[in-house]
Amino acid sequence: MATPSVTDVSAARLTDSELMRTLADRCERRRCDDADIARLSAEIAERSRSSLGSNSLASRMRASGAAALVVTIGRITRVDAARYVTVGSATAARVSITGQALEPRYPYLADALATGDIPMDAAAVIISNPDQASPRAHDDDLVVAEAAMAEFARSQPADLVRRFAICCRDRLDSDGIASREEDLVSRRALSFVELASGMSRLTWDLDPLSAATVRGFVDTYINTLHHTGKKSQSLFDFQSDGETDLNALRDIRTRKQMASDGMLELFAHVSNCSTTVSPMPKRTLVVRMTLDSLLTGLGEATVDGVEQPISAGTARRMAAEAGIIPIVMGGPSEILDLGREQRLFTPKQKLAILEIHPTCAACGRPPEWTEVHHIRWYQRDGGRTDIANAIPLCSSDHHAVHDNGWEITTKDGVPWFIPPSAVDIYRTPRRGHSIPRILFPAHA
Ligand SMILES: [Zn+2]
Ligand SMILES: [Zn+2]
Repeated sequence: MATPSVTDVSAARLTDSELMRTLADRCERRRCDDADIARLSAEIAERSRSSLGSNSLASRMRASGAAALVVTIGRITRVDAARYVTVGSATAARVSITGQALEPRYPYLADALATGDIPMDAAAVIISNPDQASPRAHDDDLVVAEAAMAEFARSQPADLVRRFAICCRDRLDSDGIASREEDLVSRRALSFVELASGMSRLTWDLDPLSAATVRGFVDTYINTLHHTGKKSQSLFDFQSDGETDLNALRDIRTRKQMASDGMLELFAHVSNCSTTVSPMPKRTLVVRMTLDSLLTGLGEATVDGVEQPISAGTARRMAAEAGIIPIVMGGPSEILDLGREQRLFTPKQKLAILEIHPTCAACGRPPEWTEVHHIRWYQRDGGRTDIANAIPLCSSDHHAVHDNGWEITTKDGVPWFIPPSAVDIYRTPRRGHSIPRILFPAHA
C-alpha cells in the first residue's frame, strides 16, 4: 500500500535545496506514474475495443467505455481519463493485421514518456494539435514536428509546450486556420454562475481576436493606472534602463481587482453615458503577417499577446476597417539600429524586437507589459541601442536584471538567464520564455 511520505514536520525540516530537490524528485516520480497509468489505460482500451461487443472488458464491468472504466477505477475526472487513454494508445506499440510489430503512432513521444521526461498535459497537446492538422499535412512534416515537440517538452514547462504545439499545428496546416477560426468564433459564450459565497462567477469563452480586444482594454487600463503621473501613456512609453519607478507600482489593488474595476467602469460608462471613463490611451493592436499573406489573404497572422493565430483573411478585414500602417519585417535591421547615438529604443524598434521575442523574454507576460532592456547595458557596458542588443522584459523581470544580478545571453535567438550566485551557486543558465522556430524539409 503506497502512502505519502512527506509530512508537515519533515517538509519544514528540509533545507531550501533539499526542499526543491524533493519536489523535483516527486514531480519526476509523478511523470513516471502517469506514463504507467497511460500505458495501462491504453491496454484497458484495447481490451474494451468495440469489435469485442459484450465481451469487451468495459461492458463486462458495466462501464460505457474504456475512459468510463478508468474513471471508476481511478476516481479521476472524465477529462483526465480520456487523456490517459489517448496518450497511452497513441504511444503504444502496434501490431499489424499480419502479426508484425509496428512502431507506435508517436514514436518520439513514446520514448520521452518511457524515460519519464514528459508530463501528461504536454504529451496530450503534442498529440492533439498535429492530429487536427494531419489530414492536410505532409507525413514527413508530422514526423519532424513530433520529434521537435517531444524534444522541447523534455526540458520545458507544459504551458510553453502548448504554445509550441499550436505553432507547429499551424505551420503544418495553414489551410485549416480559417475553418478552425470559424469554429472558435461559433463557440463564443458568456455564462453566469452564482457561488455559495454570494459572489457571481462569469465564464467568458472568446475567440482569439475578441479576446485580444478585451484583454487589450484591460491591460491598457491597468498599465495606465501603473504609469499615472507619467507624461505619455502609449504602448510605447518605454522606461529607460534603471529608471522604472517602483513608487508608481504601489497601488494596493491586485491586478485582478484592477481588471475587474476597469471592466465595471466600462459597463457603467456604456449604460449611463454621463459617467466618464478614466482617460485611456489609444492602444495599438499589433498584427503580424508576411507581406505575401497581406496581399493574398492566404495563410496566417498573429496578434501580439494572443496565443492562437488568426487567418490572414481576418487580418485583412481588420486592416480594411482600421486603416493600417504596414511595416514590413524581415529585411536587414540596420535602418532600425541607432548604435550609441540614442539611449531609448523607438516604437519601430520595439515592433521589430517583438518580432523576435513576442512576449517578456523571461516569463511570457504579454508585450504590453514589457520594457525594452539593453542586454549589454547602455551606461555600464557601453551597449548599443540596436535590435541585436535588445530584449523585452516585464517590469518585474527588468528589476531582477538590474537590481538582483541576473545576467542575460542569447544563443541562436533563444534568451538564457544566468542567476546570481545568491540564487544558484553554480549559476546554471535558465532558458527564457521562447519557443523554437520549426523548419520543415523541402518536398519534391
Ligand atoms: Zn517577465
Ligand atoms: Zn534594462
